[in-house]
This record gives sequence, C-alpha cells and structure tokens, in this order.
Amino acid sequence: MDLTSLPPRARRAYDASFVLGVLALPALTLYVVTAILHYDGRLVIPDGAFLSRLRGPSLPMLGRFLLWLMVQVALMRLLPGRTVLGVELDDGKRLPYKLNGLAAEAITFVFAAALVLGLGVSPTFFFDQIEALLSTANVVVILLCALLYVLGRAQATAAERKRNFIEAYFLGATLNPRTGDFDWKFFSESRPGMILWILADASAAAAQRAHFGYVSPGMWLVCAFQLLYVTDYFVFEDAILSTWDIRHEPFGFMLGWGCLVWIPFMFSLQAVYLANHPDARSTVTLVGIALLNFAGYFIFRFSNLQKHRFRSDPERSIWGRPPEFIETQRGTRLLVSGFWGWARHMNYTGDLMMGLAWCLCTDARTLLPYFYFIYFVILLVHRERRDNAHCALKYAEDWVRYQRRVPRRMIPFLY
Ligand code: NDP
Repeated sequence: MDLTSLPPRARRAYDASFVLGVLALPALTLYVVTAILHYDGRLVIPDGAFLSRLRGPSLPMLGRFLLWLMVQVALMRLLPGRTVLGVELDDGKRLPYKLNGLAAEAITFVFAAALVLGLGVSPTFFFDQIEALLSTANVVVILLCALLYVLGRAQATAAERKRNFIEAYFLGATLNPRTGDFDWKFFSESRPGMILWILADASAAAAQRAHFGYVSPGMWLVCAFQLLYVTDYFVFEDAILSTWDIRHEPFGFMLGWGCLVWIPFMFSLQAVYLANHPDARSTVTLVGIALLNFAGYFIFRFSNLQKHRFRSDPERSIWGRPPEFIETQRGTRLLVSGFWGWARHMNYTGDLMMGLAWCLCTDARTLLPYFYFIYFVILLVHRERRDNAHCALKYAEDWVRYQRRVPRRMIPFLY
C-alpha cells in the first residue's frame, strides 16, 4: 500500500502502529518464552513474579550473538555456490544470488558438534541461556535495523524515498539493500535464523534428556520434522527468489526482525516446551501426526515446485499431463493444473498442516505450545488476502476469470 497518499490522520495511525510494533513484538517474544518456560505454556497475566523472571541483554550474549551472525556472513561469502539471477523485479532488474545455504547449514552443524564433543561446550547452552539470548538478539536486531535504514535510504529509489523515517525503518527503506554483492535480505531470510532454529531444537532435546534421562517421541518428531523443513528450504533455495518477500517486501524491521529473532526463538517453542514436559503420545497418535506432517510437506513442496517450474518451463507436464493455464493480458500465465487447480494457495495449506503437526507433538493442554500454529493461521490468511488483492489489481479481468476457474482460496470446496 502507498502510505504517502493517505490523509494525515490515517498516516499518523499507521506510524503509531509501527512504533508500537517495534516495542510490542520483542515484548511478546519475551512473554511467550517466559510463559512456556515457567508457567507450563499458560496464558498468564504478567505480575511481579513474572516480571522478575525476565532476563535482560548481557555482554557475553551480545558477543555470542554477533559472533553467530558473523560466522553465517563468512560462510555465505566464502563457501562456493552456484550464482543465479533472481526473477525480474518491477524496475526490470534481475539481481545475482549465490546459493550455498545447504553447505552453510551442514558446516554449522559440524561446527556445533565439534564445539560440544571436542571443546566440551554444553549441548544445552542455547536452552539454558534462551531468555538472555532472546533479549540480546532483540536489542541487536533493533539496532541493526537502524543501520539497514541508513544503508537502504542511500540505495532507495525516488518513490521509496517518499517513506517517512518510521515507515522506512519499520517496513524498509528499500527493496534489496546490498553492501557490494552481499544481499542483506537474502542473507537474513534464511541463514542465521533458520539454522539457529534447528540448533535451538537440538539444545532443547539435550535439555529434555538432561532433565528426564530420555528424549520423548514427540521431541524426536518435532526435531526431525523441523530439520526436514529447514533442509528442504536450502535444497530448493532458488525457489525463494520468486517469493513475495524477495520480490515485493522492502527490507526493514518487520522482515529483518522476523527472520533474525522471531524464527529462531518462536518457531522452536514446541521443542522448548517439550524440554520440560515430555509427551506421552500413543504410537497411533504419533503415526497420525507424522502422516499429517508428511501430507502437508508433500502439498507444500510440490505446489511450490509446480509453480516455480511452470514459470521457468511452461511446457513441463504436471501429473503426467500438459499444464493448463490462463493467459493474461500482461503476458504472464496463471497455472490451473496440479495443486493450483485445487485452490489458489495450497502451498499455504500444506505449510499450515505441518505447523499443526509440530504443535500436536507437544501433547499440551495449555495454549502457548500451539502459538506457532495460531500465529501462522493469522499470517497466512492475511497474506493470502493481500496477495489476492495484489493480483486482482495486477491482472484485473484475467484474475476474475482465474478466480472463477479456481474459486477456493486455500481449502478445496471449503475456503
Ligand atoms: P506464493 O509463492 O504463492 O506466490 C504468490 C505469487 O505467485 C502471486 O503474487 C503471483 O505472482 C503468483 N501466482 C499466484 N497464483 C498463480 C498461479 N496460479 N500460477 C502462477 N503464478 C501464480 O506466495 P509466498 O511467496 O507468500 O509463499 C511462498 C511459500 O513460502 C509458501 O509455501 C508459504 O507457505 C511459505 N511462507 C512461509 C512463511 C513462514 O513464516 N514459515 C512466511 C511466508 C511464506 P505473479 O506476480 O508472479 O503472478
């Protein structure tokens, strides 16, 4: 949305919501982690005892978090990788990206294993320090986004420069801030946050073993499912280049903080909860959860691949047949075969099915272990509507034809 054209009152309301976001989102992460760790995942009203449990940022954690970011920058820059061109942006440019995420993930895991097995670093380090780490990460990323603002402003287009300070800080000053060939958005989207998420899971599993002498079935499943999700992301790393985030979302606090803080600390909540509450699910239930996860994964992965491949090779068959599509006046084609004929965003549905499976692994009777799924439903339902509005504007009559052909948003026959 172009905020510059809003009347001053609406504009001020937006700005106030951005300021509130910078304050409230980090506070929310502290609240949820504290409630999961000390209140069995219950939704509690924070009182004095609750507040006394909060941990502030600390210098040792600052050093460790910065070191973590620097190691990931170094791996991205130094490891060899295929360079590909991203999709054409609105200004007609295609930016180059080096793909070496899978190697960075593997080497990080080898480093982590070496630290634990060779140097005696505690495998529960992340879990034990999670509160101080989270506070520190919040402060570091809020400051880092100020640097991004300065960098982004210097690279902004004339239209992007119309954003005021608050909007440019929160939403982003430019689409793809770069230092030389280092792309801040592409880096932050995956490397430090996604890889740390898996290390957080592993640390929580080690903590559960330290507390109870075993790793529960739900913990094994959640760690395995999420490792699959993150590794899959890196195997198909080029597919991210055609996502909404890379193509349309400016890079500021919202995306930067989301990737660097929200992902590692909020997506690992199920494992963090299980560290203190091992599940006792029956084998049948565990098999049902695994089926839900793998069905979700199948839909998520293949719907994304079908679109990605169709856009690069429109002749390639889908489910053994030539792909069907709607030709648009803009020259782009809208796929209506495969999962894209079932509903307009089956890729979101598959992602949600996996999220539900992860939360069900906790066997929790309280609300916050399901936080990820609740948040994700809100995010993807909102995102689908935003994408729909964007495409309706972009494709006009062609989008109306497409909607007639594929009437459901995310769930065949239902929604
Ligand atoms: P999509 O990959 O679905 O991209 C939407 C775009 O695809 C549209 O704007 C349009 O762009 C194009 N498109 C829409 N319909 C068709 C069609 N029928 N045929 C061809 N092209 C079409 O959305 P996202 O980028 O939002 O999501 C990508 C994946 O990332 C999803 O699986 C999602 O679940 C996941 N995700 C995960 C998040 C997380 O926090 N874990 C957060 C956000 C997303 P165009 O202009 O090219 O026509």
